[in-house]
Amino acid sequence: MNVIFMGPPGAGKGTQAERIVSEFGIPHISTGDAFRSAMSQGTPLGVEAKKFVDQGLLVPDEITIGIVRDRLAHDDCKRGFLLDGFPRTISQAEALDEILSASGRGIDHVINLTVDRGLLLARLTGRRICKSCGSTYHVLFNQPKAEGVCDKCGGSLYQRSDDTEEKVGTRLDEYVSKTAPLLAFYSEQGKLREVDGEQEIEAVTGQIDSLLRGQA
Ligand code: ADP
Ligand code: ADP
Ligand code: ZN
Repeated sequence: MNVIFMGPPGAGKGTQAERIVSEFGIPHISTGDAFRSAMSQGTPLGVEAKKFVDQGLLVPDEITIGIVRDRLAHDDCKRGFLLDGFPRTISQAEALDEILSASGRGIDHVINLTVDRGLLLARLTGRRICKSCGSTYHVLFNQPKAEGVCDKCGGSLYQRSDDTEEKVGTRLDEYVSKTAPLLAFYSEQGKLREVDGEQEIEAVTGQIDSLLRGQA
């Protein structure tokens, strides 16, 4: 099963991806996580990506596509994968189609999580991430049992440097101008499914699960 999660920053893609991949046993491929990991290690990719990520801008297509092409060539993607935060431009979507068709594969489902812009700001500025395992929390909407500590691994929680009010504005503008046009691209292919991302986390997972199992 080859799946794409779409939706604006803060829609819940990462939160739902963690849950869905553990259920279906497929790898979670997040370009945002890949960039953050390269940035924290200071690799050449990280140094280049940082120029864009820190400003809330999309990283150029040729860099981003290269990462996904390499990742999709790994054996663990043969039985399926979940792409979270890729593609984000029409060029990325076209490149993805080429990469997959070259190996006789294709996308099965595109799930679009919808959340009103007004709520996204609160979601993003209150988001906290585990330093050790990458799990996502929220200071109000999805609190860890102990403040600042990951429920799953005991790691400490941090706030992403691009989750500030100022950067969020730029990121949402990037989404509207460059990523939202992809909805028509996948809708024309008959692959797009909408899920109301403003519901409780459990309810969102339930709906995605039904769609992926072909029961909705
Ligand atoms: P969010 O979860 O808030 O949507 P991500 O963690 O997916 O954000 O992405 C963080 C940043 O990484 C983006 O603002 C952008 O700079 C970069 N990035 C992630 N995925 C892509 C992509 N497919 N194309 C270009 N830039 C990307
Ligand atoms: P994305 O990957 O789309 O940027 P995240 O999964 O990181 O979004 O979620 C953004 C923030 O909103 C996180 O702090 C997360 O805990 C919280 N969140 C995610 N889904 C929900 C939900 N259904 N209801 C309330 N808060 C949520
Ligand atoms: Zn953790």
